[in-house]
Amino acid sequence: MDRLRRFMFGRYGGDELSKALLVLSFILLLVMNFLPRYLGILVVFAYVPALICIFRIFSRNIYKRRSENYKYLKIKSKVIMWFENNLNRIKTLKNFKYYTCSNCKQRLRVPRGKGKMSITCPKCKSSFKGKS
Ligand SMILES: [Zn+2]
Repeated sequence: MDRLRRFMFGRYGGDELSKALLVLSFILLLVMNFLPRYLGILVVFAYVPALICIFRIFSRNIYKRRSENYKYLKIKSKVIMWFENNLNRIKTLKNFKYYTCSNCKQRLRVPRGKGKMSITCPKCKSSFKGKS
């Protein structure tokens, strides 16, 4: 155990991005099982994320690995937020109608079934007409 600790000293170790790369590699391996035999050589690509993961864990360039992980986390949170927003939008589509402000691109939500109305953007205060 002490030898491992000494070996890992000064090395980056695991993080969220490494975990994601391992999961990606695993998913690719699973998908490759369903490919026809003559495409079997593609299985090599399934190991690429795992190799990158191993490289990252043993890397001594901690600063660079940290910034990669930071970029990954930023993208991941954006993707999750996009899915949450759209899922919420689909759930409420029956009761609300969505508009995009032509001035500032702010997404606006108005209740359905109220007829023609003047919609005022709460962000930039510009107003336009819409049917709900
Ligand atoms: Zn606006």
